[in-house]
Amino acid sequence: MTAVLFVLAVAAALVAMGLRRQRRNRQRRAAASRPGATPDTAIWVRSFDEIDEHLRRSWCGCGGILEPQGESSREEGGRRLRVARLVCQECDESTTLHFDTTDLVH
Ligand SMILES: [Zn+2]
Repeated sequence: MTAVLFVLAVAAALVAMGLRRQRRNRQRRAAASRPGATPDTAIWVRSFDEIDEHLRRSWCGCGGILEPQGESSREEGGRRLRVARLVCQECDESTTLHFDTTDLVH
């Protein structure tokens, strides 16, 4: 009888773990398809204020707050990109957001 309970407990733990992983994958996929997730979907901005605005409105898939960790600039295919690194305060998931600053007004 104890053995049966043990097996059930292990099975329940495995199911719980699988569900958690599934949820995490879903969150990651959602994050990967959001605008700015890749250079191809870079968010077009005209000022650095707009970037700040976007960063303030960015939330992790888990509902946590994304904390900006730094920004860098790079050029790609004649476009100027600003890449912001963000880390979730809740689940430590890190994300990058790409902004197209080619037409930035100075
Ligand atoms: Zn999170």
